[in-house]
Amino acid sequence: MRSTLLFAGPAGCLAAGLAAPAAAGEVDRFVESNLLAALYHEIGHAVIDGYTLPIYASEEDAADTFSALLIHAWHDEAEAMAMVRDTALAFRGEDALRVEDGQELAFWSIYAPDLQRAYDAVCLVYGAAPERRAALLSDPGLPDERAQFCADEFDLAWSSWEPVLDDLATLREVGEGSVPSLDIQVALAPRIERALVSAVTRIGGAVHLPMPVRIEVALCGEANAFYDYDHDTILMCREYIDHFAVLAEVMGIRDHTDCGSDHVGRKSDRLRRKDCSDDR
Ligand SMILES: [Zn+2]
Repeated sequence: MRSTLLFAGPAGCLAAGLAAPAAAGEVDRFVESNLLAALYHEIGHAVIDGYTLPIYASEEDAADTFSALLIHAWHDEAEAMAMVRDTALAFRGEDALRVEDGQELAFWSIYAPDLQRAYDAVCLVYGAAPERRAALLSDPGLPDERAQFCADEFDLAWSSWEPVLDDLATLREVGEGSVPSLDIQVALAPRIERALVSAVTRIGGAVHLPMPVRIEVALCGEANAFYDYDHDTILMCREYIDHFAVLAEVMGIRDHTDCGSDHVGRKSDRLRRKDCSDDR
């Protein structure tokens, strides 16, 4: 239940993106953004577990907050802006699929509604630097009624997590704790594999976790991702990677390459998503 989202684009298209060493296509970027955000969310669960942190509200909200803070803190300005936009669009895509499926909002869920999660992520990243991130108010969008509180929301979230992040950084500095390991058990598009390796290397270069955590990428039979509290393992499902590409299509994100026909051909795949695809 405590999980993450992965995604990936149509394999053929991703492979084509790799063949062209130029800049990533829009779909690739969208997928990588959401893959990273989802991984950060799962790392958040692992940190909560490793330190037995007190969480005074929903743990899923706390993991979302952890992810948004890392988007702000671990990426340059352009990356952070793109990532939070892509994350918000993915949540909007989930909501669009829900509507398309005729499903009611699952207010019983351990997760906040997708649109709420989108606004929450944008609010935190915007609130971290309102003076230079005002563009987020219109793209992906955040009403003034919420935006006015975001700086304070960020300050509270940062003050809550900063001691933890400092401790994780100290573990790395003194050579204690563990770098998460990555175990890819299924074929991935090369670009996605590189993004995962890069992300895990980046995490290990910034912090050590209090216990060994294994990140597995495998076929799961469902589009989802999980943090296993019993085995300190993050499971990122390959199916989830495909789901991110579906969300890109739902939100009208297209590459300006000859991959376009591949995307069109996947339209019927929209409904192949899982029921709890917001389990990041
Ligand atoms: Zn979660």
